[in-house]
Amino acid sequence: MLIHLFADDISEELFEEVLSSLNSVDGPLEFVKAQKYLRVNDICYSYSAEPLGEEDFEKELPVGMAWDDLLESIRSTKRDCGLKREDHFFFLTNDRNEYNWFSFGDEWNNHYVHCDSWEYFTDSDFRFPVTFLVASGLLQSCVYGNMEKLMEAVHHETRGCLMDLCINKKDIQMKMRTADCCGDCMKDIQNAINEGRFQAAHYMQLMEIMESIREQLLFKSRYSIQQKPSELRIGAYTRKLRLSQFGNLELKLNPLEKTLYLFFLNHPEGVHLNDLGDPENKREIKSSYENLSVLLDEERITQSIEQLTNPLENSASEKISRINRKIKRAVGDELAIPYLISGPRGEAKGIALDRQYVIYEDQG
Ligand SMILES: [Zn+2]
Repeated sequence: MLIHLFADDISEELFEEVLSSLNSVDGPLEFVKAQKYLRVNDICYSYSAEPLGEEDFEKELPVGMAWDDLLESIRSTKRDCGLKREDHFFFLTNDRNEYNWFSFGDEWNNHYVHCDSWEYFTDSDFRFPVTFLVASGLLQSCVYGNMEKLMEAVHHETRGCLMDLCINKKDIQMKMRTADCCGDCMKDIQNAINEGRFQAAHYMQLMEIMESIREQLLFKSRYSIQQKPSELRIGAYTRKLRLSQFGNLELKLNPLEKTLYLFFLNHPEGVHLNDLGDPENKREIKSSYENLSVLLDEERITQSIEQLTNPLENSASEKISRINRKIKRAVGDELAIPYLISGPRGEAKGIALDRQYVIYEDQG
C-alpha cells in the first residue's frame, strides 16, 4: 500500500530524510512523495502578525491557520496530487493551526503533521518526531478511523502508550522512548485487525519504524557516555551502508560518493588525495564504481573516474565534503566523527572508525 507524503513548505533535505527513515523498514507499506499536477490559487490563511519565538511556544496561542482552511487546503492538495479520497495522505507543513495540534487525521485519511518548532531537537534529530508522528498517525487512523473515535480512546493521563494524548511537544519524546502500546490499546488494535480494518503486516511495519526511532534516540543518549560507535554494515550486492545499532539507519550516498567511501573504508592507513590517480587505486575505484552503476556505459564511467582521481580537479575533495555533510545530517555531528573522511589539509585522508566495527555482509 502506498502512503503519500506531501512537503508543503519544509526543506527538501528534511523531507528526504523523513521518507528514508520511514522506508528503512521492509514491509508492504511504501512511503512516497506526492506531487501536485497543477497549481491552484493559494488559499488565504490567517497568520499571526508576529513571528513566534521559542518562549511563545508553551503558551496557548490561538494563531495559525484557521482549522477549516487547513482541512480544505489538505484536501485540495490531495486532489491536485491526483490521489483518491481514500488514499492515505500526509501534509507536512511548518504552518501551525489555530488549535495548536501538531498532528491529526480525519476520516478520509488526510493527515497533518506540524514540522516546525521542535527546537529542543537538534537539526539532525529533527526527522525523529516527524517520522514518528507519520507512523503513529497512520496506526491511529487505521485503528480508530476518525478523530472523534481517536479522541475517545486517547489517554489523558500518561501511560507511556502510543495513544497518550500529548498536549506538549516535549511529551512526544516520552512516547518515542517507549514506542509501545498499553493493554487496552492492544485490544483495540487486535479488534481492528480481526474486523479487517487494519492488517497485521502493516501494524508490524509501523511498530518497527517507531522502534527504530526509539533505538536511535537511545543510542544517541548513551553514546555521549559510552563513546562506542555503531557497527557499519555493508550489503554484499547493494553495498548499502547501514548503522546496525543506530536503528539500522542507511547512510544514503550516490554511487560515486559510495565508491569513494568504500575505497577509504578499504584503506585504514589513509590515502593522500593526490594518490587517488595511482594506477592501482584507480583500478580499485573504477571496478567498485562499475558494480554500483550498472546502468551507465563504459565511457561515462571512465569519464567520472578520470575526473574523480585527477589531482588537478577538485572533484574528490568536493565529494568528500558532500559525503561528510550527509553523514552529519544523518546521525548528528558527535556520532558522525568516526565515520567521516578526514585528515589534516594536504595530508592523507582516512576514516577513523575502528575496522572491528565494519562488517561486510555476505548478502543484502
Ligand atoms: Zn494505550
